[in-house]
Amino acid sequence: MSDRAIKAVIIGAGPAGLTAAYELSKQGQHVVVLESDPQYVGGISRTVEYHGYRFDIGGHRFFSKSREVEDLWTEILGADMLMRPRSSKIFYRGNFYAYPLKPLEALSQLGVLESALCVFSFLQARLRPVPKPKSFEDWVVNEFGERLFRTFFKTYTEKVWGMSCKEISADWAAQRIKGLTLGGAIKNALLPKRKLKDGTGVVKTLIDTFRYPRFGPGMMWEACAERVRALGGEALLGRSVVACRFDAGSSEWSVTARTPEGALEEFRGEHLISSMPMRQLVAQIEPRLPENALRSANSLRYRDFLTVGLILRERNRFNDNWIYVHDSNVRVGRVQNYKSWSPEMVPDPDFCCYGLEYFCFAGDGLWTMTDEDLIALGAKELEQVGLGSAADVVDGCVIRQPKAYPVYDDDYQQHVGVIRRALAAHCRNLHLVGRNGMHKYNNQDHAMTTALLAARNILAGENKFDVWSVNEDGEYLESGHAGASTRD
Ligand SMILES: Cc1cc2nc3c(=O)[nH]c(=O)nc-3n(C[C@H](O)[C@H](O)[C@H](O)COP(=O)(O)OP(=O)(O)OC[C@H]3O[C@@H](n4cnc5c(N)ncnc54)[C@H](O)[C@@H]3O)c2cc1C
Repeated sequence: MSDRAIKAVIIGAGPAGLTAAYELSKQGQHVVVLESDPQYVGGISRTVEYHGYRFDIGGHRFFSKSREVEDLWTEILGADMLMRPRSSKIFYRGNFYAYPLKPLEALSQLGVLESALCVFSFLQARLRPVPKPKSFEDWVVNEFGERLFRTFFKTYTEKVWGMSCKEISADWAAQRIKGLTLGGAIKNALLPKRKLKDGTGVVKTLIDTFRYPRFGPGMMWEACAERVRALGGEALLGRSVVACRFDAGSSEWSVTARTPEGALEEFRGEHLISSMPMRQLVAQIEPRLPENALRSANSLRYRDFLTVGLILRERNRFNDNWIYVHDSNVRVGRVQNYKSWSPEMVPDPDFCCYGLEYFCFAGDGLWTMTDEDLIALGAKELEQVGLGSAADVVDGCVIRQPKAYPVYDDDYQQHVGVIRRALAAHCRNLHLVGRNGMHKYNNQDHAMTTALLAARNILAGENKFDVWSVNEDGEYLESGHAGASTRD
């Protein structure tokens, strides 16, 4: 280990932690990144390898409205960043619907009577909207009408969050669906695509394509960690942070990490950048934070997630990147087809690999099932939705991801506010970044932007940039122009 003074100790080698580390290292600052995973960097954006087959934790599209983030991805991976065609569908009551929805196709598949009822319920919602919508359900019903809400939003959203759409905050809908209106979707379906300003071609939005590393998102973060190391920084795996102490005398952070063998190591640095879940960080800070901050941290909730990775004989059953499974007869929420993300996710062209995604709470029935039972469930449900035959499954693995989603319930904003105020009053040189680090439903690009701003505040020696303003406008980046999504 280097004996250079550490400018920043960074918790987590996900997109946020590694982006901060890279930015500081490029400016000649010494950093140490501590990552609890003993094998992978990348956090939720890692890629897990099993017998040469590669699986994401969900598929990770690389798309940002920020030129700086796009350029950073290009700087790190260059030609290994592929431009891939996008195709996704919704499976509902035995039918496959294009997603993003093509209204005319959707209405024709729903049938004349159901379509008429949908239009009627949409008009009804426009005439008599729920005043001041508080829940996700109110918000979506106001925008689309009760019937379309039930068909295209309710079942999937409830699978993802494990709670009723009435309990989910309207904030979340506003952040994730803003920009998607029924009128806009119909206009997009009917009108020819816009020409670029210079008249050279059609605007490409994320509806059509996305960028993706040849070997999955983990490739990006492995390359980034290598760059940090090449610049003299340290990115240490298998280091679970268990305590963070601020010493007011030396104005230094002292961070204790446990190795897989159980040994404790201590790292002292001028700044602490944390991308670990807020709930965990607040409980570890010494001197102890006031009771109300500890209570608020304990009230933050998360949704967990697991992927059943299946390796199958290739029968070319579908070539979409992913399919949302709205049907409530099966527990699977989404099926990823990794060969469509990048052909190099699969080492043998006679086979393909799918990820069957189950949303759950750590410790519940799904989470605690044995891997063998989960693989059998995945194979059975794949056949039930008509996307493959259980007899073609030759092998499988299970990847569990705790705290995949920070939950936006009615109280989360108030709790985050209490915690922020306590940290501002009691801790100096502490920088919260990233998705669970700030309890924000952020994609990679926003997680990275918070990290870039935190690194720049450290370099400037003052808080010049407001890290909390990133993604505050509620805009979500499904498409570069008009579309939006409730999903990641
Ligand atoms: C199903 C799914 C699909 C998604 N799809 C997309 C997509 O298409 N495009 C996109 O851009 N984004 C997508 N995202 C979001 C993306 O995964 C996150 O925005 C991104 O990984 C957040 O980066 P982060 O560094 O903030 O956090 P994380 O990725 O969570 O990284 C945090 C790291 O901290 C480590 N850590 C935690 N506690 C400790 C501790 N005590 N000690 C040491 N280390 C610790 C963790 O192990 C982890 O490696 C998706 C997310 C999910 C769940």
